[in-house]
Amino acid sequence: MAVKGSVPYDPQNVFARILRGELPCNKVYENDYVLAFHDIAPKAPIHVLVIPKAPYVSFADFSQNASEAEITGFTRAVGQVARILQVDGPGYRLLSNVGEEGGQEVPHFHVHIFAGRALGPMLPE
Ligand code: AMP
Repeated sequence: MAVKGSVPYDPQNVFARILRGELPCNKVYENDYVLAFHDIAPKAPIHVLVIPKAPYVSFADFSQNASEAEITGFTRAVGQVARILQVDGPGYRLLSNVGEEGGQEVPHFHVHIFAGRALGPMLPE
């Protein structure tokens, strides 16, 4: 089910449970601001999710309500994860789904990093 409209943060969402250590993840990177881990159902040879540790529902929520330090920390961490994955050279795609029409399934802000092959057109025609 896609995330509908502007919803309050649900502390039982799957990423909140991963952050609390209640569910496992295949971790790539962690610092004070973010956790990055492999997507459980990869859509590309490399498919990693970067999530803030603080509770934001979506990019809309994060961009409006996160502190400058959180935004800087998150942005730099996404770049750091790409370097760890060694995809800077060949290239990669960042994606963040927001809300119902954006196709967001998990109501905790996250950025997808896709890489490992030529990714083709941005959206299906
Ligand atoms: P989105 O549609 O942007 O909300 O994407 C949510 C992503 O989370 C999907 O690509 C799922 O495969 C992924 N996902 C859901 N549960 C888990 C989990 N337990 N561990 C890793 N990835 C997950």
